[in-house]
Amino acid sequence: MAPGPNSLMWFRKGLRIHDNPALEHAANGCDCLYPVFVIDPHYMKPDPATFSPGSTRAGLNRIRFLLESLVDLDASLKKLGSRLLVLKGEPSEWDIKRLCFEYETEPYYQALDYKVKNYASLAGIEVFSPVSHTLFNPADIIQKNGGRPPLSYQSFLKLAGKPSWASSPLVTKLNSLPPIGHVGNCEISEVPIVQELGYEDTGEDELTVFRGGESEALRRLRDSIKDKEWVANFEKPKGDPSAFLKPATTVLSPYLKFGCLSSRYFYQCIQDVQKNVERHTSPPVSLLGQLLWRDFFYTVGFGTPNFEQMRGNRICKQIPWNDDDELLAAWRDARTGFPWIDAIMVQLRKWGWMHHLARHSVACFLTRGDLFVHWEKGRDVFERLLIDHDWAINNGNWLWLSCSSFFYQYNRIYSPISFGKKYDPDGEYIRHFLPVLKDMPKEYIYEPWTAPLSIQTKAKCIVGKDYPKPVISHDSASKECKRKLAEAYELNKKLNGVASNEDLQGLR
Ligand code: FAD
Repeated sequence: MAPGPNSLMWFRKGLRIHDNPALEHAANGCDCLYPVFVIDPHYMKPDPATFSPGSTRAGLNRIRFLLESLVDLDASLKKLGSRLLVLKGEPSEWDIKRLCFEYETEPYYQALDYKVKNYASLAGIEVFSPVSHTLFNPADIIQKNGGRPPLSYQSFLKLAGKPSWASSPLVTKLNSLPPIGHVGNCEISEVPIVQELGYEDTGEDELTVFRGGESEALRRLRDSIKDKEWVANFEKPKGDPSAFLKPATTVLSPYLKFGCLSSRYFYQCIQDVQKNVERHTSPPVSLLGQLLWRDFFYTVGFGTPNFEQMRGNRICKQIPWNDDDELLAAWRDARTGFPWIDAIMVQLRKWGWMHHLARHSVACFLTRGDLFVHWEKGRDVFERLLIDHDWAINNGNWLWLSCSSFFYQYNRIYSPISFGKKYDPDGEYIRHFLPVLKDMPKEYIYEPWTAPLSIQTKAKCIVGKDYPKPVISHDSASKECKRKLAEAYELNKKLNGVASNEDLQGLR
């Protein structure tokens, strides 16, 4: 029998064995399979200025989560008779005839994959790049919509319909993998530890409570769906954003981000639960509806040039945001003087994950609610610190929360005082993430600056010394934000949705 080709499986996201069509295709009928992960320098650029060691793009928590996911993937590949090759050099001697990798819609990967495909075609290498990170192929939805992405969730749902694979079995049945071939002079390493990538491990206290990897993803998924009533009644945005010991949602986002969990498998598991209950919630609020939000943002992000910025982005309102780096730093470093906002920002830094409504609160506060700082700056902070950071979803939600796109009711502002109080009147969440306020009586925990000095002294927290004074007055700042947005919206209307930067200077 003629020898089969050598295949290379290039893992980028999709760090899993289950429902991985690229891996299955790579393994099919080949003599040798090289399962490779490349530590991409694009994500590893060190930043000496704003942030601690590591890269500007990815904080310690996310990198650690990634490395844990790679260790888990390596262990799973070993059980199948293979292993993960973490690559530093050039695999020029491997005689690869087939290259398999999951299709990606982010602009960075689109540009990279274009180059890789051209190279492969010149070298006579077959490329197989299936869509398996999302439920749908964003290009199909855009094509059905006449070449433009749908801009509302409802129109997205209509176009998307039920996925073709919804009722067929997905789970990959890989019992073993072909051996790894000769590796030649190419430098192969084990999965590195964070310090080898330029990060300082700051001690357990600073590290996320969520562990990376497919095994943990599947355990978490099973845990989330075993309570059928919970799945059936899932309704977002209902749910308590301050619940931290047992979060109100699944916390599967980091696993979906890295593809440790297949979104299609998740979809089928929810569908199975729904088939077996009498009544269940529906999109947009149901759990299935959340997954569809993910695909909605992937589709709009894929079909919108300059989606990640205000300039040149045709779906983004042009708003004369300010460049106040001091306000930005106070927000980023949890020093706004509003405990609800600061506690969420501490959770972001320590855990790399917060509830959706907590993200709403801090994104609204930074942009249209209070500080009027550009959404792109908040987006960058989230990009670095979230373990679930995802290009399409992060940009889409910042566009949404800043009332730059999708959602335009700028008069509806989250109060940095009363919103959190509604869910957590005793301020347990604040006490946990801001221990400096742990002895503040509940009457003052959301507004410690209103506490008489005697109470501050007793609570061992003097505002202005132990905890900052508020950086703005919420009442006047939010009024001013609404005024500026009204003016900007008016100008956008006049200029038919595209105001130039010069026109907007006058509004500052
Ligand atoms: P669940 O409620 O259990 O939902 C299940 C899955 O559905 C999630 O894991 C996620 O993949 C998807 N999903 C849920 N809500 C949304 C949503 N609004 N938009 C798109 N997909 C959704 N989510 C990210 O995964 N990465 C990001 O970078 C990100 N940035 C955000 C930035 C801002 C300003 C805001 C307001 C939200 C952002 N979100 C982001 C969306 C959302 O907050 C998280 O997906 C969700 O909180 C993750 O928790 P979960 O897995 O428990 O969600």
